[in-house]
Amino acid sequence: LLVALLYALRQGYKQWKRKKGRAAEAQPYPSIDTNKLMLIEQIGRGRYGAVWKGVLDECTVAVKVTSLENRQNFLNEREIYRLPLVAHGNITRFIAAEERSGPDGRPEFLVVMEYYQHGSLSNFLTNNASEWECSCRLAHSLTRGLSYLHSEIVKNGDYDQYKPAIAHRDLNSRNVLVRADHSCVLSDLGLAMKLTRRSPVQRGGDDDTSTICEVGTFRYMAPEVLDGAIDLTDYETALKQVDVYSLGLVYWEIFMRCRNLFPEGRAPPYEMALQAELGNHPSFEDVQHFVARERQRPRFPDAWRDDSFMISCLKAVIEECWEHDADARLTANCAEERLAELQSLRSPGPAAATTDTTAAAPTMETN
Ligand code: ADP
Ligand code: MG
Ligand code: MG
Repeated sequence: LLVALLYALRQGYKQWKRKKGRAAEAQPYPSIDTNKLMLIEQIGRGRYGAVWKGVLDECTVAVKVTSLENRQNFLNEREIYRLPLVAHGNITRFIAAEERSGPDGRPEFLVVMEYYQHGSLSNFLTNNASEWECSCRLAHSLTRGLSYLHSEIVKNGDYDQYKPAIAHRDLNSRNVLVRADHSCVLSDLGLAMKLTRRSPVQRGGDDDTSTICEVGTFRYMAPEVLDGAIDLTDYETALKQVDVYSLGLVYWEIFMRCRNLFPEGRAPPYEMALQAELGNHPSFEDVQHFVARERQRPRFPDAWRDDSFMISCLKAVIEECWEHDADARLTANCAEERLAELQSLRSPGPAAATTDTTAAAPTMETN
């Protein structure tokens, strides 16, 4: 009996090793034939590339085309999308990443992803004011995506898959896309960074503070980044807190377009956070002075009076995200719960009878 048991164990072990080997060898990355990819029209432009609407195997897709100068951004985005367990309902669905030689013979780098018809959140908010439920849905779904990105996951059932905690590092309303059902996906992982490893993280010698911190869009930069005062002894926590600060500004943009929060349902036209205060192209120094020195934030409108329970809850969530003291900020996970609570509260103000503005299709966007 003992011999039989030992034999069975040995066979089991061999089989397990074979499977493990196969899992390690398997090429999980889908490869596409770029000759079959048709680019139809340019729908966006970011800092690192042009984004096209295209067709692949009769499906509409979006394709980010990056040139050689921005190859590093492409490589990083591809690496992050290919990590196990990164796929999530509130993160842009990645289809493939390819290098090819472009029309002029120069190399170009493609990220193929699902096409989201409303384009960026910034575009959506420009074209649509929303009811409370819709604003909450946008904010909650985005937060779900961020909370997931930030989480470290070990899944043992499936040959030991591991997802590190990841910081986005460039969270703003142009890097969030909106689905047809008005839920959001977190997008543009070109600057995202893995924060954990399976073994304790060893910081590389050349990872100095500036390369870790000085990325992102000035307007949405947290005070500690602007001041170069970020505490990197626990950089996992620090970089998540930086993302949550930007999240607070994006919440402000979302709820400033919520009809129920304004008299007669008249939400003001879309504005980026701090646009009223700092204009369209603030310099690093402008934002640093205003946000880090003077500790100012986007202003809440007079209509958001504290005698409404809902509005005071909403303001509290936003303020707890953009707190000056990074340690006092909510985690993305807490923010997700708070948004879920807000969502369950009824609309506070006059629900406007009128429906959306006319523009539905996203216009070409430039960052
Ligand atoms: P960059 O890294 O150059 O900033 P992004 O990935 O942020 O590029 O894309 C730039 C813009 O292109 C976005 O703000 C958005 O307007 C549009 N866009 C990007 N991906 C998609 C997509 N999958 N579906 C629809 N529009 C997209
Ligand atoms: Mg972008
Ligand atoms: Mg980018």
